[in-house]
Amino acid sequence: MADSDLAELRKQCITSLYLCTDNVSKYLDNEKEAEFTKLKSYVEGYCLQEAQQDVAIQALEKAKRETDNSNVDTLQDRFTANLSSMAGKRLNVKNHPYMIELTKRYQKGQEQARQNLEESDLAITESLDQHIDPITKRPISDPVKNTVCGHVYERESIINLIKRKSSTKCPVAGCGNRGPILPQHLISDEELKFRMTLTQHSTMIHERSVTNLDDTM
Ligand SMILES: [Zn+2]
Repeated sequence: MADSDLAELRKQCITSLYLCTDNVSKYLDNEKEAEFTKLKSYVEGYCLQEAQQDVAIQALEKAKRETDNSNVDTLQDRFTANLSSMAGKRLNVKNHPYMIELTKRYQKGQEQARQNLEESDLAITESLDQHIDPITKRPISDPVKNTVCGHVYERESIINLIKRKSSTKCPVAGCGNRGPILPQHLISDEELKFRMTLTQHSTMIHERSVTNLDDTM
């Protein structure tokens, strides 16, 4: 196989290893470090291969120069020895562009995984906040949304509040809507109802899987 074909093949392999690294850094938990170590050793192997390819001609020339009738049998051995010593001298694996890129991608993936985790935490906190009625501070079962400011209340508690005092303002702390709440501002919050169903559903699944786990013990 020609050297240029080998170089192209190597590039493709390294690209695949980069993609693996992206996934390992983003999606693995416990096995992350071990997998990265493996990927690193593969890329190191390719770096060495490349360095050997670069010095192959010189290594062969050197071996030939040292060869006469007396030692022609060992030409192949001396070529191999030259190859690894010359490639080894030349190669600084830690600072090789392939290794630098690999480490960069690993760190970037980890960073992204952290961010995703924070975002999902945020989303959970957000939806929990929205499920709490700002008037009774209890979980909402029949949500209505104030179309003026977007805040959500328990239908019964906000209706009672308006009935008692017609100038009732949005009870959410820091709300910019300073006008009184009118019954026509309030609409059923179908989206929240749907999300609440989803949450209940996933809680049920979670409980079921916990039960299953207990069964096997
Ligand atoms: Zn409001």
